[in-house]
Amino acid sequence: MKIKKKLLRKLLIGTAAVFLVVILPLWYVGCLQVFYTAVEYPPPVWQSNLTKKISDKQTGAIHVPILIYHHIIKAPLLAGGGSFLYVRPEIFAEQMKYIQDNGYHVIPYADFYAALTDGAPLAPKSVVLTFDDGHRDQYKNALPILKQYHYSAMFYVSTQAIGNYRGSMTWKILHELMSSGMEIGGHTVAHKPLTSLTPEVVDYELAKSKQLLEDNLFVPINHFAYPYGWYNTSAVEAVANMGYWSATLADGGGWYDRQKSVFLIPRIIMTEDMNYFKWALEN
Ligand SMILES: [Zn+2]
Repeated sequence: MKIKKKLLRKLLIGTAAVFLVVILPLWYVGCLQVFYTAVEYPPPVWQSNLTKKISDKQTGAIHVPILIYHHIIKAPLLAGGGSFLYVRPEIFAEQMKYIQDNGYHVIPYADFYAALTDGAPLAPKSVVLTFDDGHRDQYKNALPILKQYHYSAMFYVSTQAIGNYRGSMTWKILHELMSSGMEIGGHTVAHKPLTSLTPEVVDYELAKSKQLLEDNLFVPINHFAYPYGWYNTSAVEAVANMGYWSATLADGGGWYDRQKSVFLIPRIIMTEDMNYFKWALEN
């Protein structure tokens, strides 16, 4: 009996210790979130092959860098290889200021799409801002800065995350983003690479997430971003068949020829590196 009691006490102390030392700190730094995105993308590389060799007039191409942001918060200690997905609010503010100070114009994604498809005129040095996955720190830390500069941005949101874990956005937040002039785009339900799923599951992921967003936000969801930027021919066809107007990737940048697919629009992942940021705008 005495041994049993001792064992029980040890077990209790052990459980409490694991909770205090492991679970609580993990929860506190939002580590579950880190695991959610740490495997997201390979670190960005400088893409020196994208040079301005050809002009607008020659090809009918347009040059609009589309920037991707994930977390707008200081990277937690345990972010590890995923730390490049974090941009501190003060650096983000510096990047937004650089856009204004250097004559760039942030345009809504809808305007970019209109220019791409209908040849609508674009402001010189246009830039599009996008935010992926529906992290609450985007709302808390990026939105005030976006509002300060009167910038619009596209938020691609995976519906499974909405209101479901600490650090994710809620429907209320999404409504507030929209009333602040932001756009919302589809990013599937479960944020799995479409290339890893059966055609039936791909259709479910696309249809369910689009429906949920439209039912709760009362607007058509016309634009999509591939989770991890991964795609193949059948994924592209599925996105088009689902009624989306366009889809963006998570790599590349540079020129968009109007003849190219609107379901393969390149974007560039932003980090805290100001030189990389400037390079992305210029190229
Ligand atoms: Zn994503």
